[in-house]
Amino acid sequence: MPQRRGGTRFEHSAGGVVLRSARSGAEVVLASRRSARGSLAWGLPKGLVEAEESPEDTAVREVLEETGLRAEVRRPLGDISYWYVWNGDRVHKTVSFFLMEAAGGDFSQRDSEMEEVRWFPPDEAVRTASYRGEQDVLRRAMEALAAEGAE
Ligand code: ATP
Repeated sequence: MPQRRGGTRFEHSAGGVVLRSARSGAEVVLASRRSARGSLAWGLPKGLVEAEESPEDTAVREVLEETGLRAEVRRPLGDISYWYVWNGDRVHKTVSFFLMEAAGGDFSQRDSEMEEVRWFPPDEAVRTASYRGEQDVLRRAMEALAAEGAE
């Protein structure tokens, strides 16, 4: 059915903060995408929740597609939401994020959507992430990790 222009759509995506432990401490994955204007945006792997799919399963699938990593869900990190305009429609997107742990795979297995994928120390990931909401999610992930360490 053709979409009416000028409407409002609501979308639900899911994604992850994927962890690995390096000698220097925990590291997390960010992926970069080239925007229509040509600049690089760094963000967390994420994508639309498909029909019949749980947000956890979406996060696992999107991490695999966008980074090439197999990762397991450790705990929910809450949702963020933002607006953008697509073909004249206003889109309100909510993204559910999970703390995840890398369990295999490698960056060479990813699809071609992402320009670059890299491990970052958490502080650097917060500084590098392009969107405020994802910076907040990264901070929440670090708080969850620190709390786990204190348990
Ligand atoms: P998909 O829905 O398949 O994951 P997409 O590119 O359609 O991919 P988004 O990644 O949500 O969907 O990107 C849509 C628009 O929202 C782009 O203009 C992007 O720059 C912007 N965007 C992406 N992530 C965020 C965010 N966390 N906060 C604010 N704006 C974002």
